[in-house]
Amino acid sequence: MQQLEPFYEKKLTCIFCDKPFTSLRVRSRFSIPYQVDSDFCPHYREGNYDPHLYFVNVCPECGFSFSEEFSKQFPKGTKEIIRDQITGHWTKRNFGQVRDIQHALESYKLAILAGSLKKEKNAVLAGLCLRLAWLYRSENNSEQEKRFMGMALNAYEESFVLSDFVGTSMSELKVLFMIGELSRRMGEYQKAVSYFSKVIQHKDAKDEQKMVNMAREQWRVTVEEKRQIGEE
Ligand SMILES: [Zn+2]
Repeated sequence: MQQLEPFYEKKLTCIFCDKPFTSLRVRSRFSIPYQVDSDFCPHYREGNYDPHLYFVNVCPECGFSFSEEFSKQFPKGTKEIIRDQITGHWTKRNFGQVRDIQHALESYKLAILAGSLKKEKNAVLAGLCLRLAWLYRSENNSEQEKRFMGMALNAYEESFVLSDFVGTSMSELKVLFMIGELSRRMGEYQKAVSYFSKVIQHKDAKDEQKMVNMAREQWRVTVEEKRQIGEE
């Protein structure tokens, strides 16, 4: 019987320069987390493959980096800015093979820059910042983890205000939950509690019971943490 490889090659087309390239993906049966944190960060045992290392596609030709959540539209004037800041001085490099953590970290930073210049949806940028924070968590680098968690928090707040999560994998309830949970992790307890309450009292609450139950639990955790800090 043929041994199933953990990786397969995904054929892609660069959304900036239209050139074809390939990038590796991890087969789902090789990436089963043994634990998922309250902000949905998955943890993998050694020997398992972290699919988040391969979430970002980096075009080897022009350096434009994007996830599958990026739209193909470039608002007027953004292509010129991207040419000026990224693709115009890109030295050809290939991120399409097995990635180590350093390559993965770099791929996210490239995609956050490319997405910001392209004026990609805040919900999409938030997802990139959050996944990058998770990679730093797996490296026990709490300073960088906090830095990108803070950026994810700002982007989710902006996304909520502009409702730009519509058409992405995020629902309004999930955006509100993430604002609450990331605020809690940043030590902003008052804000965390108010956002968990927004989830619990939301008009769509009955359709997303799992999210509501998580908000109730994290509300309780936040109140407990706040109380403990107040007592010190
Ligand atoms: Zn390209």
